[in-house]
Amino acid sequence: MAYVYDDQNIFAKILRGEIPNDTVLETDHTLAFRDIQPQAPVHVLVIPRGPYVCYDHFAREASDAEIIDFNRAVGMVCKMEGLEDGGYRIISNAGEAGVQEVPHLHIHVLGGRGLGRMLQPAR
Ligand code: 5GP
Repeated sequence: MAYVYDDQNIFAKILRGEIPNDTVLETDHTLAFRDIQPQAPVHVLVIPRGPYVCYDHFAREASDAEIIDFNRAVGMVCKMEGLEDGGYRIISNAGEAGVQEVPHLHIHVLGGRGLGRMLQPAR
């Protein structure tokens, strides 16, 4: 599949500083910030700075440095947000079936309460 990245998506605008965000962590290749509509007491979005649409795009085309940095950042967010003991969930929605709203790869890091079973029935 050929991935087409839309540089007008909202996270691209956040990365360019055109829209404010509540930053949790910044690294060379990654930005983590709080979701504007949190679904749990902790709801952080972790995004690569590079133009990747979704996880499989990133996994195939990103450099080793980007992939390592991004995964380390997810781990650091879990630690910084105090989720290691109580547990957490990470989710990355992709495409139509995944109901991805923003076409820039993001990992949701959720925690701070019991999160229930993994999937709700489809609506
Ligand atoms: P998706 O459905 O694509 O997996 O998740 C997109 C997420 O981005 C949603 O949880 C939504 O609340 C969040 N979001 C959308 N627009 C903004 C924004 O402008 N700022 C922040 N911080 N989060 C946003």
